[in-house]
Amino acid sequence: MSTIAHHVPDATLACYAAGNLPHAFAVVVASHVSLCIQCRAALEAHQHVGGALLEAADAVAVSADLKSAVLSRLDEPFMPEPVYERSGIYPGPVMEALKGRAPNWKSIGMGVRQDILWSGKEGSVRLLFIPPSQAVPDHSHNGLEMTLVLQGSFRDQTGGFGVGDIEIASQDMEHAPVAGKGEPCICLAATDAPLRFRALFPRLLQPLFRI
Ligand code: ZN
Ligand code: ZN
Repeated sequence: MSTIAHHVPDATLACYAAGNLPHAFAVVVASHVSLCIQCRAALEAHQHVGGALLEAADAVAVSADLKSAVLSRLDEPFMPEPVYERSGIYPGPVMEALKGRAPNWKSIGMGVRQDILWSGKEGSVRLLFIPPSQAVPDHSHNGLEMTLVLQGSFRDQTGGFGVGDIEIASQDMEHAPVAGKGEPCICLAATDAPLRFRALFPRLLQPLFRI
């Protein structure tokens, strides 16, 4: 019996199934689906519909523009796929992003550590290590932030998040997540734009840590 309470919204799953989700978010969605039977079933339904639509479409001649657009995307990272094997707390897509290595934790202050797994023009995805009961500085978002708990838990203004839970924080949301007691909280977090911290100190550090 799964205890996951916060799932990937259906529209996001549909976007992922169609291959339209930016890479950083796709890593988080693939990781959640790797841990969640409910979202796996919903994703398979979307993929089934997508496949049927493709089969129904007639083959059309590919324009030179489209061809070069497709070729120019070959440099982009591959679409992460759900993998139903895991190594310790890390789901398959995270293991793939880590390329089999252990996380290379870098301190960002107050005991919080990060390992940036991937970063590009359209965002970044990182592992975050937050000591028990530690608060992440109060911040709002310039874009979307997607966080998946891999170990421990955290709580913010919107509720509590445990292992497997996903939180989606939008542009207009401001929050100050606090890690639960007991184990350190390890999260996978993706953003498509830099966070906006309220306090000056973390704001000064921001360019340094690429948060
Ligand atoms: Zn789910
Ligand atoms: Zn946030």
